[in-house]
Amino acid sequence: MGKFYVTTPIYYVNDVPHIGHAYTTVAADALARYWKLKGQQVYFLTGTDEHGLKMQRAAQEKGITPQELADANSEQFKRLWEKMNIQYDDFIRTTEERHMKAVTAFVDRLMKAGDIFLGEYEDWYCVPDETYWTETQLLPGRLCPNCKRPVELLKEPSYFFKMSKYRERLLEHLKLHPDFVQPEVRWNEVKSFVEGEVRDLSISRTTFDWGIPIPNAKGHVTYVWVDALLNYISALGWPDDPEGKFQSFWPADIQLIGKDILRHHAVYWPCLLMAAGVELPQTVYAHGWWTNEGQKMSKSLHNFVDPNTMIVEFGLDAFRYFIMREVAFGQDGDFSVTAFKGRINSDLANDLGNLLSRVCGMISRYLDGKFSGASSPQGLDRELEEGLNKTDREVELCFRNCTFHKALTYIWEFIGQTNKYIDTTAPWALAKDPAQKDRLETVLLCSAASLRGIALLLWPFMPGSAEKMWIALGLEPPLSGAMAFNAYHPRNPISKVQPLFPRLEA
Ligand SMILES: [Zn+2]
Repeated sequence: MGKFYVTTPIYYVNDVPHIGHAYTTVAADALARYWKLKGQQVYFLTGTDEHGLKMQRAAQEKGITPQELADANSEQFKRLWEKMNIQYDDFIRTTEERHMKAVTAFVDRLMKAGDIFLGEYEDWYCVPDETYWTETQLLPGRLCPNCKRPVELLKEPSYFFKMSKYRERLLEHLKLHPDFVQPEVRWNEVKSFVEGEVRDLSISRTTFDWGIPIPNAKGHVTYVWVDALLNYISALGWPDDPEGKFQSFWPADIQLIGKDILRHHAVYWPCLLMAAGVELPQTVYAHGWWTNEGQKMSKSLHNFVDPNTMIVEFGLDAFRYFIMREVAFGQDGDFSVTAFKGRINSDLANDLGNLLSRVCGMISRYLDGKFSGASSPQGLDRELEEGLNKTDREVELCFRNCTFHKALTYIWEFIGQTNKYIDTTAPWALAKDPAQKDRLETVLLCSAASLRGIALLLWPFMPGSAEKMWIALGLEPPLSGAMAFNAYHPRNPISKVQPLFPRLEA
């Protein structure tokens, strides 16, 4: 049995959760569920990033301690993930003892290895992004190239990590591992960056104290990004590894991020790991950004799509489906309510929901909800089963490449094939002729077995609906088993079902 370790970034608790957070987390959840279903040992990590100047300032403004602010906001993420049926294995917070211990040990190790020196840091700092920029990176008017807000000139004594020392090795690694950064456009971006100048990285701050102290360096706290990145190994118990999780799961198989934090994950992170003698993750995958009805989402416009609202209005699984189906993972996309409603009515209510209602309705009506066991599949039946097996293989490839929208396209092609199979075999006509009883039963059995396969394929994306389908087909959860038609053994009678996805009014 193989293992699969997937991570989301830990989310900065100064934000309230929005579609961007939900997007990464649903993708990670789909990956984790898919490989669990395939029998892999899976570990899915998410969490919250809680230190830094931005948090300290936000707490001050609210008149509470940074810890109180972190506690309250971290809870909002946990609650949303519960609501969104996110099945993570661990939720790490950077203010936890286990994390702080690991960060201290990590910095200590780099110091002992001679990879850290004391210098002076002076540069342009974007407080909201917790990121330093060099003069040449700024936009005209000294604005942050990421968020376009004004930056501040900060000068302070600082410890530096000799990142420049690892530039060559990182470049080598990139060239040898084209899958280290995905999609390809991001790999190219990182490669050009590393081919340019990689400067030593300032890893401590003295201008505030809401952070993890640098060992034996009074007044210095760890730069929030170094602190945050280490969550991916601190959560596994690095360095002591009391439960053997680090040994079992590291290196990560895939680390999902938004493209705005590519440099931190594809440059700083591997260099830090190299310095500590820790293996690099297999793949860092950067997805794109969402716009809202064609407009960039921003704090000033107050136009972030709120997952909570979408779930209440359209249902959780419809929302999970839409964000995975609408846009190719890795590319930018637009969230449009019209497109969302269109997909609910056509893909979910019409294609999938009707198929389930039709099949369960006919099994209930013509067979009294039960199969008697007589089945002699013919050419068309075997073609349908081959269609399911082919879809299964295609979907697996999509999960290997994070092409979730394609996986769903393939599944919907098979839903189309099953609908067509029913139209061609016309069970309602067979039901009129008692001599066709066996044929009727075979046709309905093959249709139901196809739906069982569809439920298995959809579970990573829409776990709640897939479980409803499973139960409607007379099966008992949890979902499991092979795709083959002969793996379908309903244990309970099948009756008419409520629509899986009610149609929305235009
Ligand atoms: Zn900024």
